[in-house]
Amino acid sequence: MRILKATHLGMCFGVRDALALAHETAAEGPLTVLGDLVHNETVLLDLRQRGVRIEPRLSDVQTPTVMITAHGTSDRQRATIAGRGHRVIEATCPLVRSAHERVLALVRAGYHPVIIGQRDHVEVRGLTGDLDAHNVILEEADIDRLEPRDRFGVASQTTQPIQRVRFLVERLRSRFPHSEIRFVDTVCQPTKQRQDAAEELSKRCDVVVVVGGTHSNNTRQLAETCARHGARVHRVQTVAELRTEWFLGAVMVGLTAGTSTPDVVIDAIEAWLERLAAEVVIPVVEVVS
Ligand code: SF4
Repeated sequence: MRILKATHLGMCFGVRDALALAHETAAEGPLTVLGDLVHNETVLLDLRQRGVRIEPRLSDVQTPTVMITAHGTSDRQRATIAGRGHRVIEATCPLVRSAHERVLALVRAGYHPVIIGQRDHVEVRGLTGDLDAHNVILEEADIDRLEPRDRFGVASQTTQPIQRVRFLVERLRSRFPHSEIRFVDTVCQPTKQRQDAAEELSKRCDVVVVVGGTHSNNTRQLAETCARHGARVHRVQTVAELRTEWFLGAVMVGLTAGTSTPDVVIDAIEAWLERLAAEVVIPVVEVVS
């Protein structure tokens, strides 16, 4: 059994910077992060151990300082937080901020905004929170439910696979051939790199281990991409979840991880797989004539 690591592993810069800012701010005084700073339980546990509070609702925040997560939020929500007297610390990823600006530019130019993403995801709620009218779509069926418009402006959640995004944009064009449709590509580069690497990995491996939080959208998307290309996929958060029987008969095992997965977790899983690989002997079948 051999181990093949994806070319892009470890945290993306947006998550790394958000974490560094949380550590720095928490060292200065009490801090509440509004929602999960990143969708990774290992990282959240570490933050709690450092005294950082994590509250999903603003009404439960009791510290003067509040951090916006890497997923961003709307200006309306920002104003509400500041209006309650909190000091607001911004950990919004610059690529999420850029997505906000591009969606607002579409609206200013007269396009009806359509966001490709998960309606309930915090990033999508932030992207749509300042819009008076919009639609969120994720499946072809969602396009069938859209009302006709003269001009559609399409953007997406930063962690959606670009192939799915392009497919839905084309589907929108064919459903409304007389509408003007402008698409702005807001899928972030780290997501694209990981998706490409996952595709490559799953073509070459029997089994792929995808590491990341249960609520992480980009981790789920990586697992779906690997499964679509025929690999047996096991999604785990920590090394403790790995099972020897998953790898029975596997010749090549792939390893990839979501953008909020700490290196220490990936390293532990890689070491576990290496130990297993050292124990597994692939039988060589001799043909006797
Ligand atoms: S996944 Fe992309 S958008 Fe999200 S924090 Fe990382 S770099 Fe930023």
